Amino acid sequence: MAVYVFGHKNPDSDTVCAAIALANLKNKLGVECTAVTQGQLNPESKFILDKFGVSTPDVMTSFAGKQVFLVDHSDLSQSPDDLGEAEILGIVDHHKLGDVTTPNPVECWIWPVGCSCTVLQSMYGFLGVDIPKDIAGIMLCAILSDTVIFKSATCTDKDKEAAEALAKIAGETDLQALGMEMFKVKSAVEGTPIRELVERDYKDFNMSGKKVGIGQLEVVDLSILDGVKDDLAKDIKALKEEGGRHSVFLLLTDIMKEGSEMLIASDDESVVEKAFGKAPEGGRVWLDGVMSRKKQVVPNFEKAFA
Ligand code: MN
Ligand code: MN
Repeated sequence: MAVYVFGHKNPDSDTVCAAIALANLKNKLGVECTAVTQGQLNPESKFILDKFGVSTPDVMTSFAGKQVFLVDHSDLSQSPDDLGEAEILGIVDHHKLGDVTTPNPVECWIWPVGCSCTVLQSMYGFLGVDIPKDIAGIMLCAILSDTVIFKSATCTDKDKEAAEALAKIAGETDLQALGMEMFKVKSAVEGTPIRELVERDYKDFNMSGKKVGIGQLEVVDLSILDGVKDDLAKDIKALKEEGGRHSVFLLLTDIMKEGSEMLIASDDESVVEKAFGKAPEGGRVWLDGVMSRKKQVVPNFEKAFA
């Protein structure tokens, strides 16, 4: 029976590439594994797989009765709805420990680094398995994506070392240029439905019993979003109402200016000032230096909601 490997809902490049990398590693070790995703790939992930000639994993959302490995998350809110009926064999992640539990011992690789693929690069080394060139390429891109080309507060020396080692295998020499090429693909919003933009990199969280959604769009220049900003603001209000959420926040991150404008739809806007010490105006606030949802936004809101 095949074992399935998948990352979180609304798959990002790390979720996709880490699932592929872990499935490859497990297959080499004699465990028959298939990488899948819980949804369609975003344009950046498509670009990465195309660039290195790696085929797109199938979409799969139900895992009852299956054996699974999780990558890039351990939160039930980001897992398949029937995960409780699956058998979790292992987790490879770099987020805070979530609320997934198991009845049996589990193979856990959860490190405080900038990307799941950084953990995977070490796993290959530890287990003595060579990383194929195409997989090294996509793992490298996942690191560049998750660490915003090494600029994010989540980036560690371990991520830089892993990226360098992977670049050597993949034959990539200019990581800055490769990263910018990816972020330009990621920045393209033209012709994309507004809801698709809102949900492109979106996660729901349970914060002290309140349902809070936080999305993020990373662009090389915030002005790219000028034409859609009002519609985005309107749509997060709709998303908040639809799901009975307390709040939906959308981070518009300028990776060159290294900060984010946050669009706010909330039953209580004061949580934003509580979390960041800055009062929003007209449902928006600029947060200088804030680029990481995981490290700079979620923990602050969790405290503000507590
Ligand atoms: Mn991710
Ligand atoms: Mn990640």
